[in-house]
Amino acid sequence: MRNLWFRGTGFLTLLLFLLLPPILIGQAWTLRWTLLTLFLFVAALAYRFRLFWVRYPLLALSIGYFGFYEGSCLCETGALESLMVFLGLGRFSALLLPLIRVLLLLVVVFFFGNLFCGWVCQKGGVQEFLYRERWGLKLPVRVVFFLERIRYLVLAGLIVLPLLFHRRFFREVDPFRLLFNLDGPLFLLLILLTFLLLSLFVYRPFCRFFCPLGALLGLVHRFSPGRIRVDHETCRADQACTKECFSQALHTLKAGEPPELNTQNCYLCGQCSSRCPKGCIGRKG
Ligand code: SF4
Ligand code: SF4
Repeated sequence: MRNLWFRGTGFLTLLLFLLLPPILIGQAWTLRWTLLTLFLFVAALAYRFRLFWVRYPLLALSIGYFGFYEGSCLCETGALESLMVFLGLGRFSALLLPLIRVLLLLVVVFFFGNLFCGWVCQKGGVQEFLYRERWGLKLPVRVVFFLERIRYLVLAGLIVLPLLFHRRFFREVDPFRLLFNLDGPLFLLLILLTFLLLSLFVYRPFCRFFCPLGALLGLVHRFSPGRIRVDHETCRADQACTKECFSQALHTLKAGEPPELNTQNCYLCGQCSSRCPKGCIGRKG
C-alpha cells in the first residue's frame, strides 16, 4: 500500500513536470519539455515492470533528439547555473522557470531513483554505448572513491561561481556540447576525445567523476525509496552482482563479505538484480 502511494505520487509529479511551466509561466508547451517528461515516464514504467532493455532505445533516442538535433539542449546543469545567476543578480522574477526545472527533476529522482542519468541523459548514453565490456577496467575501489570527489568540487563551483560572477561557466567547459554541436575550441576537443577514448575502457568516466548534475542527482538518489538495496541476510556473497555492476556502485571491501552499495553511482541498469541467484538485490521501495 505504501509502495503504491509512493508510485502514485511519483507519477503525479511527472504530470506536474509536464504541466507546471506552461500553467505558471504561460510558456509554450515545448516539444523538448514534453519529450523529457515522456522519456522519464517511459523509464519509470519500464523499470517498474523490469523491462531493462528499454533503457537502450531510450538512450539512443535521447542522443539523437536532445543531443544532435537540439544541440545537447537537455542539460539541466544549465538550469541550475541560471538559477544561481538570477539569485546572484537578485532577479527573483526570472527564477521561476529554472527553479521548476531543477526542483521537479530532483523530486522525480527522489520518487523513482536516478532514472534521468541511467535511462535518459544523452551524455550518459554516448558513454554507455562506447563502453566495451570485454576491455572494461575495474578501478581499485579506493581510487574510485577518490575520483568521485572531483564531481562534488565541480558541483560546488557550479553553485558558487555563477552566484558570484553572474554568468554561466559550465557550458564553456562541457565537452559534450562540442560533440553535439560539432563546434568548439581545440582544448575542448582534446578533453572530449580523452573522455570518449576512456569510455571504451572505463564505464561512464564523465558521469562518475566529473558531472555536477550527476553528483547532485546521486545525492538525492541516496535518499530515494526507489533505490536499489542489498539484503545482507540472504546474500551468499558470491559476487555475481558486483561483476555485473560496471559503474562499481556495488563493490566489496573485504573478500567473502556481502557487497556494499554506493547509491550515488547507481544508474538503475538492473544488471545486478537480474543476475543475483538468490534475488536478494533490487528495488524495495
Ligand atoms: S552523470 Fe551527468 S552526464 Fe552522466 S548521465 Fe547523469 S547528468 Fe548525464
Ligand atoms: S548493476 Fe545494480 S548497482 Fe550497479 S549500476 Fe546497475 S542497478 Fe545500480
